[in-house]
Amino acid sequence: MADPQSVLGLSRPDWAGEDVAMLYDMASRFLTEEIAPHYEAFEKAEIFDRASWEKAGAAGLLCASMPEDHGGAGGTYAHESAIIEAISHVGVDGFGIALHNAIVAPYILHYGSEEQKQRWLPKLASGELIGAIAMTEPGAGSDLQGVKTRAEKDGNHYRLNGSKTFITNGQLANLVIVVAKTDPSQGAKGTSLIVVETDEAEGFERGRNLDKIGLKSNDTSELFFNDVRVPTANLLGHEEGQGFVQLMQQLPQERLLIGAQAIAMIERALAVTIDYVKERKAFGQKVIDFQNTQFKLAELKTEATVGRVFYNDCVARHLAGNLDTATASMVKYWLTDLQCKVVDECLQLHGGYGYMNEYPIARMYRDARVQRIYGGTNEIMKLVIARTL
Ligand SMILES: Cc1cc2nc3c(=O)[nH]c(=O)nc-3n(C[C@H](O)[C@H](O)[C@H](O)COP(=O)(O)OP(=O)(O)OC[C@H]3O[C@@H](n4cnc5c(N)ncnc54)[C@H](O)[C@@H]3O)c2cc1C
Repeated sequence: MADPQSVLGLSRPDWAGEDVAMLYDMASRFLTEEIAPHYEAFEKAEIFDRASWEKAGAAGLLCASMPEDHGGAGGTYAHESAIIEAISHVGVDGFGIALHNAIVAPYILHYGSEEQKQRWLPKLASGELIGAIAMTEPGAGSDLQGVKTRAEKDGNHYRLNGSKTFITNGQLANLVIVVAKTDPSQGAKGTSLIVVETDEAEGFERGRNLDKIGLKSNDTSELFFNDVRVPTANLLGHEEGQGFVQLMQQLPQERLLIGAQAIAMIERALAVTIDYVKERKAFGQKVIDFQNTQFKLAELKTEATVGRVFYNDCVARHLAGNLDTATASMVKYWLTDLQCKVVDECLQLHGGYGYMNEYPIARMYRDARVQRIYGGTNEIMKLVIARTL
């Protein structure tokens, strides 16, 4: 296959220095050799095995941006981006590392006490703990203020009651950050983030591993909390009621990483499609020789290039500490819309073979769709952007 990383022919941005490039190469090799051969089995089983997580930990792919004295590799978001891009370039998109590394671990790093960081981050880095974040409920998705899960103080514990759904890594996760109301009378200001170590949590139950149209190998699940006793020491932050502010502060990185997944899949879709149309013949000529094919791919490559430049610029801003939520919402919304368009057009250029699951473009088509929905729907992204007009 053509190299997805060089399909656009752009030079590396400043933030992707030698160490980031080396990490990308190492991650690609690991994913190609250790994960890709089993990926079909994970897709069929609709779940990864724990061994893959532990192998990823041993290879240094978990918690790349966490400090070294907490078990991480001491990198930045640039290193996380290299790993996320490698996952999509290799085509093992259901491996839930992006959420574990770049969403769950940062909550603990930014809001956890020293004791919490020492207790959880090294195990997240080794793969002994697999992370999840449980915000969404059957009755509250876009409108997170409507969360009903309740954490009621009872001495030095909380009693946690509620149901969550659509939780990425939900079957495997043993460290779950739960969004709960500690004071329902306070609305958003009564929301807190509470870490549940599920291995020891009586009353915690996993519901269905949900049957999705794509990202089959990820164990997106329901979670139930029935009077689960969680030590008050598992609250993230110094006091209750900080949950909403904490969620808002982490949004730029969460949206940016969905942009990383989008641009990387776009590059892979172009790479496999360019290969395909150079091989496939119709009417006595190669499909690439039809002017329609050339024009379509020229358009897609142009849009992908615009998208990549925008993504790279957003990473540079994020590393400098000034990526605002509205711009991060633009990168999430625009790149995921573009991803679905590019993958659809690339599938079309494969003809009937594009609809066959044995061709990678078919899986990309199924996997791409959710990108416009999770991490805040693209409609919610537009609301955020519109507030800046
Ligand atoms: C595969 C997958 C993985 C996920 N992983 C996680 C996870 O790990 N953790 C987690 O907590 N959640 C997760 N989610 C949940 C995801 O974030 C939500 O599905 C998403 O935020 C939308 O919420 P909802 O499904 O309740 O849709 P709703 O909020 O019911 O939205 C329905 C429609 O109404 C639109 N809409 C809603 N409000 C407005 C508005 N104000 N203006 C205009 N349009 C509006 C939406 O854009 C959408 O089109 C995941 C979802 C999926 C599918």
